Amino acid sequence: MPDRPREPRAPAPSSFVYPTVGPPLLEALRSSGAKRVVLQVPAGLVRNAHDLASRLREEVGVPVVLAARPCFGACDLPSRDEAPRADVAVVLGHAPIPNVPLVRPTFFVEMREPGGDPEALATTVHEAGVPRRVGLVASVQHLDLVPPLTEALVRRGHEVRIGRGDRRLAYAAQALGCNYTGAEAIANEVDAFLFVGTGRFHPLGLALAVERPVWSLDPLQNVLERPVDRAALVRRRQLTVASVRDARRWGVLVSTFAGQNRGAVALALQERARARGREAEILLFDRLDPRDLEGRALDAYVNTACPRIALDDGANYPKPMLTPPEFLMALGDLPLEPYRFDTYH
Ligand code: SF4
Repeated sequence: MPDRPREPRAPAPSSFVYPTVGPPLLEALRSSGAKRVVLQVPAGLVRNAHDLASRLREEVGVPVVLAARPCFGACDLPSRDEAPRADVAVVLGHAPIPNVPLVRPTFFVEMREPGGDPEALATTVHEAGVPRRVGLVASVQHLDLVPPLTEALVRRGHEVRIGRGDRRLAYAAQALGCNYTGAEAIANEVDAFLFVGTGRFHPLGLALAVERPVWSLDPLQNVLERPVDRAALVRRRQLTVASVRDARRWGVLVSTFAGQNRGAVALALQERARARGREAEILLFDRLDPRDLEGRALDAYVNTACPRIALDDGANYPKPMLTPPEFLMALGDLPLEPYRFDTYH
């Protein structure tokens, strides 16, 4: 019996989940007793944020403040300092991360997309030659498509697997840019993965995390992309590792965001560096800006916050930046092969 992506893990005590902004959410906010709401939206929805804030203000009847800092995940919700008087948060575009503590009752509006005809999508996938044994992975917006797409693929002769990951993932089949443990759990049972969603980062991260071809299906456009060249991706990361093998002075980056804070990992890495005769300084930040690292007497960085900072944006920083497993490769504590993705548990 496959895990069902519609049923979340038991959420944190004060998290409430809604598929879209609609009457059920508004009614729940009205009856929550909220006195002031802080609204947070991801960068892709900033354009609608002001209209939504007005709507909440009118329909819930309480002040609504808008967090100007767009969030990239449910790992960086508005802190007490950012919105000291808000007693309730509304967060758009993300599912809760079950093991991230919340500072106030939080209403997650996952912005589920009904879009995409499963039969047409399955035909596209099948006719493109995607292997018969396939694992499905989806971003939270497209999780509702997973059951009907699974059925449509099975009707075309595919064997479909869906994995449930660790406590950082709310749903079976879900992926986060820092956690593909659901896919890893079934990697040995499939010959390829099909990522259902938009954008490049998730399929790239998934390709680094699992040694399987990753096809990428945009369900709104019914466009299927062929697997990325994993070997080339890994080679690029290994070259970065090789370039800092002799680095003496390291900066160990630690974020203060509740869901990105791996202080214990940073301390362990600092110890490993010292044991290998290197200097390692821990640097604290909330949201990292490349300018924060300019002019420092450090040779390279290891980032313990969101893995996307090193993997996606590393080129924007003045010195090479590694993930924690890559750092251990640079120290010689881990081999270069097999490449290890920086899974955030
Ligand atoms: S740590 Fe990064 S990839 Fe993970 S949830 Fe946060 S923003 Fe997304």
